[in-house]
Amino acid sequence: MNRSLTVVTAFLVVVIYAAAAKSTALVHVPLPRNNPLKQTEHEKKQNSPPASALFSEKKLPSAGRPMAIGYYPSGCLQGGVELPMTGPTWQVMRLSRNRNWGHPELVQFLERFAPLAAKATGWKGILIGDMAQPRGGPLPFGHKSHQIGLDVDIWFMPMPDRVLSKAEREDILGSNVVAADGKHVNDKTWSPADVTFIRTAAEQPEVERVLVNAAIKKELCRVESKNDGSWMSKVRPWYGHDDHIHVRLKCPVDSPNCRAQPPVPGGDGCDKSLDHWFTDSILRIKIPEFGGSSAGLKLKDLPPACTALLNAPASPASAATEEGEPRR
Ligand SMILES: [Zn+2]
Repeated sequence: MNRSLTVVTAFLVVVIYAAAAKSTALVHVPLPRNNPLKQTEHEKKQNSPPASALFSEKKLPSAGRPMAIGYYPSGCLQGGVELPMTGPTWQVMRLSRNRNWGHPELVQFLERFAPLAAKATGWKGILIGDMAQPRGGPLPFGHKSHQIGLDVDIWFMPMPDRVLSKAEREDILGSNVVAADGKHVNDKTWSPADVTFIRTAAEQPEVERVLVNAAIKKELCRVESKNDGSWMSKVRPWYGHDDHIHVRLKCPVDSPNCRAQPPVPGGDGCDKSLDHWFTDSILRIKIPEFGGSSAGLKLKDLPPACTALLNAPASPASAATEEGEPRR
């Protein structure tokens, strides 16, 4: 082969490559990394709205027989019923939240417990805080649990001797019974009736646990040390809970998909296990008022039945109460 022909060929190859590279550079358009039209199933799930937004939108319970579904901090409530806002010995607070719903066993428990607690403590009645949303599920703010209609917060502040207005029920602050250092109860706000209040709750057979601030548990240990404290094992220390108790009911028999919490350890809980709540590192932890948040959970984090429940029609009984005047 002719040598000059080889040189010319090589030259042409270089020129063509250079031109090609240049034109490629000019027309190169980077492919979008997050093309919304080409989302994978995984990405779709990642971008789905938080379940708390979907559940808090539902103003009425689902149709279907009452059932607690899932676990206290990851589940939902079928066929929820509403606790009346005002009863002879109770008033529901923070009505704007629409969280006075629960499994019928929770509502029946409160209707029975309210007069019992009033009689035992000498109070006019009890103030009831959050229960669950109409269909349960994660809440946009305030709690980790309260999702399956079996949790309720009850205030330490006794019910006043009159019906509170809607505005008062929004604005009144509960009375904090824990001292500023978090290590003791506050002598100015704590009273012996508070012990009776907690004991009355813990003694009810359907109650699984009563959560209180560790300083309150410590005080109970002090005053109950000489008594039969079999009810004390149900009273467990937890973050916050300084102006209310949190009562949790056992899974009802009608709810096969309700996951029971491991049983409380035996004994009165007045042992070394209580000490770690008073270490500096624990006292410094600022957990939100009610002990955490479930706002970030997605539908995929809940039992599949909760997705169906979210899309189910409203319970006809509850819809009837919505005709004409709104419930509140
Ligand atoms: Zn609570």
